[in-house]
This record gives sequence, C-alpha cells and structure tokens, in this order.
Amino acid sequence: MITHFAKVCFLVILTNIAYALPQDSHTQGGIALIPLPEYAPIDVQVSFRDMRVPVIANQNGRMAVVGIPLAATAGEASITLTATNFSDSLSFVIADKDYPEQHITLKDTSKVSPDEAQLARYAQEAAEQKAVYQTFTPSSSSWPYFQMPIKGAFSSPFGLKRFFNGEPRDPHSGLDIVAAEGKVAAAPADGTVIQTGDYFFNGRTVMIDHGQGVISMLCHLSEIDVTTGQSLKRGDRIGLVGHTGRATGPHLHWGVSINNARVNPLLVLPATTP
Ligand SMILES: [Zn+2]
Repeated sequence: MITHFAKVCFLVILTNIAYALPQDSHTQGGIALIPLPEYAPIDVQVSFRDMRVPVIANQNGRMAVVGIPLAATAGEASITLTATNFSDSLSFVIADKDYPEQHITLKDTSKVSPDEAQLARYAQEAAEQKAVYQTFTPSSSSWPYFQMPIKGAFSSPFGLKRFFNGEPRDPHSGLDIVAAEGKVAAAPADGTVIQTGDYFFNGRTVMIDHGQGVISMLCHLSEIDVTTGQSLKRGDRIGLVGHTGRATGPHLHWGVSINNARVNPLLVLPATTP
C-alpha cells in the first residue's frame, strides 16, 4: 500500500520534471512557446531572425521555444521551419511591454563614460560573449529544469531602462539578486561551462551552455570555481558572489539567452512546480 503510494508520488514528480516548461510570454524580452504542426518532419530545424531556436517535446507534441529580444518591434513575427525538402513558416504576435526606468548615480565615472582603451576592451569582450550566445549545441528535447542560482531579494529587475548619471544605457538584460559577498552561486540548471572571464562591465563571469542555444550568464563574482568545458548539474557551485565589474554592491546578475535573445530569467523557471 505504502509502496504503491510512494511509486505514484515518485511518478508524478518524475512526470512533472520531465515535462517542465518555460513560461509563455509573447512580449519583448519574453518567450514564445509555439506548437509545431504534426506534419513537420522529425528532423525539422526552427529559426528566428536567422538564429536556431530550441525545439522541445512533451506529451502534447513538439514546440519551439523562441527568445524574443528586448529590442524587437511589437507586431507580427515569424519562425522558419526547415528540413530536407521541406520549408514552412509560422507567425506569432509580439506584444509591446513597458519596462520601468531607473536612474543611478555612480562615483566611478570611468564606468559611465569609458575612455578609448576601455571601449576597445569592452568591444572585444562583447564580441567574445556574442560568439557564445550564438552557440547551438544539440541536446535532449526536454526543457532544462531551472532553479534560482541563489536565494535573495531581487534588486534590478529584467528589462529595467537604466540611466547612469543621467545618460541612457542598454536596458537591464538580466535579473539582479541581492546576496552577501562570498555566498555560493550555483548553476541554475544542468549544462557545460562555455566561457569564463573577468569583464569590464560584468566583472568575473561564468557562462553556462544548457543546450540548444540556451545560455546562462552569472556575473560580478568575487571568485570563479569552474573551468571551461566542465559539466555541471543544477545546484553545483560555480563561484562566490561579489561586486566585480560595474556593480554598486554585492549581488548576482543572472542573465539567460535563447536564440541570441536575452530574456527574462524568471520565465525559464518551470511554469508548474512539482
Ligand atoms: Zn545586473
């Protein structure tokens, strides 16, 4: 009796984990879950703006998980489906989203208005990170099961339109989680370390490839405890919280990219929890 009950519970948990899905939000900085038609070949590849899109499968069929850039224009958009002797497209609508504004005063003006050498360094680092974001590693067809990389209150939300000393900057491409200096930061999902670096704005950073172009970035670390190529399980230690790079205090910046679009990390967390 107890054994049977335990078995049922175990199966329920397993089922939920196996079919974890991200949250559907057809907005700028959101994720569009688009069901694929049954007639699409088994080896179909999906792309959005020339970037390959993850395809996942569950009991309801296959679906594309499309990352929508913050800078995307609201309105009709489409994904392309291709396979041998097959091509098709599916349209979807991107809704406008109005993210809040924040004005910050920084004393270190070198990180507000970088000089030429700093700009050159930043350009090189940005190119390095862009190459990582454009990586597509084939992986299993289930959505990675995500959890928060650390516990803590949120300071800067995703999408915040930021102004440093009155000057507009790129909107916030991740989520800032407040945590004490030296606290352990963990891998938010299974994956492979694809890049580590000590960047001008992001400070000490770890980038994790979760497969199919889904990439996490964890920034401002005081210490990095992993190396490129290392396999990680969800919850594994990747480093310690710090305030390296452009940071007003210790916190963990968690960014998530899907098909080279930075999306709200909260949306990759499972829509339903076991
Ligand atoms: Zn941040």
